[in-house]
Amino acid sequence: MDDALNSFTITLVAGLIGGLVAASLAARANRAFRPPPPRDQSPAERYPRALALVIAAHLVVTAWISIGLFLLLVLLAAAGLRPGAFMFLPPGIFVAAAAVYFALVVSLRCNSCSRRVLLQSTTTPPYAEPLRGLNAWGSIVVRVVSRAPFRCMYCGQRYHVGVSDDSRSMEA
Ligand SMILES: [Zn+2]
Repeated sequence: MDDALNSFTITLVAGLIGGLVAASLAARANRAFRPPPPRDQSPAERYPRALALVIAAHLVVTAWISIGLFLLLVLLAAAGLRPGAFMFLPPGIFVAAAAVYFALVVSLRCNSCSRRVLLQSTTTPPYAEPLRGLNAWGSIVVRVVSRAPFRCMYCGQRYHVGVSDDSRSMEA
C-alpha cells in the first residue's frame, strides 16, 4: 500500500514539474513566434511530399494507439494480470514511431512559408483548424490520415494529399 502511495506521489510530482516545464517552454515559444505573410487566399495545391506526409501522420496515430495499449496493460497489471514482456511492446512501438516521425517531419515544410507543417511551434497558430478538441497539430494529423484537405497552420496555405475526392472536408 505504501509502495502504491509512493508511486502515486512520485507520478503526481513528476506530472506537476513536467506541466510547469511544458508551460514555460510554450510561453517562450509563443513569445518567439512571428507569423509569416498570410497565404489563406491562395488556391489549394497538392502537398509536394504527400506520401511522406501521409506516412508521418500514420506514425502519430500509431504512437497514439501504443499509448492507449500501454494504459490498457497498466490497468490489466493493476487488476492482477501479468502482461509480462508484452508490457514493453507499446513503449517500444512508441519510441520507434516517434523516431521515424521526427526524422521525417523536419523535412516536411510548407511550400509557402517554409515552416514545418507537422510541428507546432506556438500554442495559437494563426490558421489553426481545431477538430473535435484536438490542437492545430493533432487536427492536421487527423485530416492527413483521413485524406481530407488541410492548411498550413502558420500561413493558411491550403493543401491536399492528392486523392481523387479532394472535396471531402471535415468540420469540427
Ligand atoms: Zn505555411
